[in-house]
Amino acid sequence: MALVRRVLIAGAGIGGLATAAALRKVGIEAELFEQAPELREVGAGVGLWSNALASLDELGAGEEVRAATLPVRSMVAARPDGLATATVRLDDLGPDFAGAACRFVPRPTLLSALARQVPGEGVHTGDGVEAAESGGAFVHIRLKSGWMQEGDLLVGADGLHSVVRSMVVGRDRIRYSGQTCFRGLSPMPPPNPKEMREIHGRGQRGAVCPVDARQVYWWVAHNAPLNEIVPPEERRAMLLERYRGWPFGLPEAIAATPEGGILQNDLVDRKPARRFARGRVVLVGDAAHPTTPNLGQGANMAIDDAVVLARALRDEDGLPAALARYERERVERTRLIVKRSWAFGRLFRWSSRPAVKLRETLVRRTPARVMTEALRWQILEGVGTL
Ligand SMILES: Cc1cc2nc3c(=O)[nH]c(=O)nc-3n(C[C@H](O)[C@H](O)[C@H](O)COP(=O)(O)OP(=O)(O)OC[C@H]3O[C@@H](n4cnc5c(N)ncnc54)[C@H](O)[C@@H]3O)c2cc1C
Repeated sequence: MALVRRVLIAGAGIGGLATAAALRKVGIEAELFEQAPELREVGAGVGLWSNALASLDELGAGEEVRAATLPVRSMVAARPDGLATATVRLDDLGPDFAGAACRFVPRPTLLSALARQVPGEGVHTGDGVEAAESGGAFVHIRLKSGWMQEGDLLVGADGLHSVVRSMVVGRDRIRYSGQTCFRGLSPMPPPNPKEMREIHGRGQRGAVCPVDARQVYWWVAHNAPLNEIVPPEERRAMLLERYRGWPFGLPEAIAATPEGGILQNDLVDRKPARRFARGRVVLVGDAAHPTTPNLGQGANMAIDDAVVLARALRDEDGLPAALARYERERVERTRLIVKRSWAFGRLFRWSSRPAVKLRETLVRRTPARVMTEALRWQILEGVGTL
């Protein structure tokens, strides 16, 4: 076991809470420092695939997530006129993945399932990490209130705009993909309770995903300049106009979303880093590998990171060996996902008729077997047990 007695975690989002839960399972207590006044997840729903669902089982949070969601068994891609261009049946992935499927979970449900695995007294809210210094036998953090803390290891789980990341990676830039995304949870029975349906148009796309018998998660994304933020009270009307006539209940889901309940995010990432750890500092989740959500893996990777990090700290002798193993198991895999997600997203920026026709032909001609195999590698191979 790597000798770490006190772990400090910056950020108590999905990655921070999952890490605290995983460390606890291997007998290491961690303290979380979250800048927000309370543990809170905004962001409608999140798709969890069998890799992260298996990791959640390791953390003790899997059952709660399953109980709150429907298993999705197929993914259908279609044109805005409803014509299907591809179908991937998750059951075709074979017996190893039977029952695993994919689930769309409301973010607050996921966050509270994780928070339940972490003792309340170890979570400090309302005070962000402002600076950190790692040297010698300890790492120190300074919080915005001026409070100082000392630990054996600092985990940067502070998301896309991480302050901890620069200690490991140096300064790097956020990349804008050229598309902005709107999303919401809608109180509406899913029109297709076993299917996720994605619609691909000209420079715009959308999806309707079942959550439970009474709710769907939907999202749309389209080409737009960076930072062109639509006022919350204008989003619903704008989207209804823009996605009018789209199939699979998308306009109905948008219309049923409460006013002010539609989120907007520009789709961004950073170029993949070559390392996730330096000295007594390690990164997880979006602080380590922020990605565009085109493969739906950002939160999944954060949960998997937690399992791999805790296992390495338990099994390796000494912190350097543990962090080196964590990097070996995570850097390359997450790098490929970030890169593929970026490349995949570019296809959906295409807006000229010939380009879109070509993309549809490519999708239609790709054998289902090839898509299933890509999916198996990309998302379904889990990181193993704790
Ligand atoms: C439109 C969209 C759709 C997505 N869909 C999916 C999906 O379907 N499936 C999927 O797997 N992923 C999806 N993602 C990605 C997913 O949301 C992220 O990968 C995931 O939230 C990362 O979790 P995290 O804990 O690393 O970071 P965050 O969720 O960003 O959490 C970071 C936490 O740290 C806190 N914090 C920040 N700075 C500090 C500081 N200095 N000190 C203390 N606390 C701090 C924040 O308040 C926050 O609580 C999507 C993302 C977007 C934008």
